[in-house]
Amino acid sequence: MLFTVVGPGRAGLSFAGALTASGWRCVATLGRHDDVRSAAADCDVVLVTVPDDRIAEVAAAIAPGRAVVVHASGAKGLDVLEPHVRRASVHPLMSLPDPATGADKLRRGGVFAVAGDPVAARIVAALGGRPVTVGDDSRALYHATAAVAANHLVALCAQVERLADRAGVPLGAYWDLMETTLENVRRSGPIPSLTGPAARGDTSTISLHLEALPTDERTLYLALANEAARLAGRPPYRDPARTVSTEALAVTPTSPVRVPTIAELRARLDAERRAGRTVGFVPTMGYLHDGHGSLMRAAAAANDVVVASIFVNPLQFAPTEDLASYPRDLERDVAVAGANGVHLLFTPDVTEMYPRPMLTTVSVAELSARWDGASRPTHFDGVSTVVTKLFNIVGPCRAYFGEKDYQQLAIITRMTEDLAIPVEVIGCPIVREPDGLAMSSRNVYLDPAQRAAAVVLRRALDAGTAAILDGERDPEAVTGVMTSVVAAEPLANLDYAAAVDPHTLEVPAALGPHTRLLIAARVGTTRLIDNCGVDTGSAGPLGTPA
Ligand code: AMP
Repeated sequence: MLFTVVGPGRAGLSFAGALTASGWRCVATLGRHDDVRSAAADCDVVLVTVPDDRIAEVAAAIAPGRAVVVHASGAKGLDVLEPHVRRASVHPLMSLPDPATGADKLRRGGVFAVAGDPVAARIVAALGGRPVTVGDDSRALYHATAAVAANHLVALCAQVERLADRAGVPLGAYWDLMETTLENVRRSGPIPSLTGPAARGDTSTISLHLEALPTDERTLYLALANEAARLAGRPPYRDPARTVSTEALAVTPTSPVRVPTIAELRARLDAERRAGRTVGFVPTMGYLHDGHGSLMRAAAAANDVVVASIFVNPLQFAPTEDLASYPRDLERDVAVAGANGVHLLFTPDVTEMYPRPMLTTVSVAELSARWDGASRPTHFDGVSTVVTKLFNIVGPCRAYFGEKDYQQLAIITRMTEDLAIPVEVIGCPIVREPDGLAMSSRNVYLDPAQRAAAVVLRRALDAGTAAILDGERDPEAVTGVMTSVVAAEPLANLDYAAAVDPHTLEVPAALGPHTRLLIAARVGTTRLIDNCGVDTGSAGPLGTPA
């Protein structure tokens, strides 16, 4: 067989060498400055091996003759070989680094994607390769797959190399791991070959990894960790302490529409979503302050429609608690919501939310049992249940919660993931009074002396933070520091103080680079809670604003 090569680059010369070694005869090798018009006249095959975006132009310049015109592109279809009627494609599923190595590799029995004229199969047969027919419809996908299999794997190997170097571990140690992993995947398929923290759902280890990684390595790590989690049927990694900054968010004031029924709210929000608008949701118990306002502003900044709910949920109050006396002021709440950009104010009464006694409870194990859950055993079940119901009423949205109730935020985040509720839960920073007391609807219960004493929670958190920043890593010692601050305030009675892992809310054996300090105390009869994060690592967890 006689052939001509148009485009004497790595691919063209590799093919020329390989076909010649297989007994074919190369009649011409034409480059950029040669006249290609008669290339198809005196041979059986013209191999067009120019770059992909030049194939059409070069093929058009070749006058139709007796030769079949063949390209070697993985991505292009046969249409680029117009006007030739006899056309084909042969794409080797291998890299051709230089003409000599390439010629050798082409004859080692590899796979070639073929299409069009049967001459393609003859080329592959001459080279001793294995043909796979790939039509124009699946051409781009075939080529994308090759890019993933070859180029992306190289990119991943390069990350392994960089990180191994940084960790001071010889690359060879990881090569063994990579080779056995590939072998396992070849033998058993991807899912049975999955191991590691993402597949196990071990989010605290993923957090540790992210903290250890340099910032510019995290995106790739996290993308693939989440892909591994998806393969393992687990939810993606989410940092429960993920926050948005609510400072300096300006909003356009609104006149909120009060919506008292589930049916009306659903109808309105469904219509908004059908029109392509996004919904931000802020659930509250009313008696709004700027802590609530900050959530509303965050929702207004990121969504087209903002809905806030005001519902004092009986399910989350124990019989001995302050359900009946919980402060209420709907008129003022409408004004605060309007000043913070709320469009719809969902204000159901108890019979609208609970027309019959609830037989259903949503309960998030473990996370709900500790800290506030220990002091208020039914509280978080009441919260999870009402929030699930509210999420079902509001529908797909972004929902904004305050870090003020950090345990609640962790529980709702976990519940939403566990139940695949189509809501994105977003945490917002604590808003404080000028003296440091966290804003709370319950602060109105405090008389002036108690109000002054209440700042002790913040002082205890500051003392705990200072101890950690001074190098203390024993969580009990940090708890001791916070406890002694509260003990010095006669009007305050400590419920708990703790230094915990920000994800699991458990007390670790030793504090890592990220800690959450939690505190609850009674001042008079009013129970107050507060918390803060303490970071000693070089970089915060992903998603945390710098
Ligand atoms: P509540 O009305 O107390 O149930 O609170 C409704 C939402 O507002 C919850 O997500 C709270 O965490 C949040 N929130 C309450 N106080 C503050 C505050 N001081 N800063 C930020 N968010 C708050």
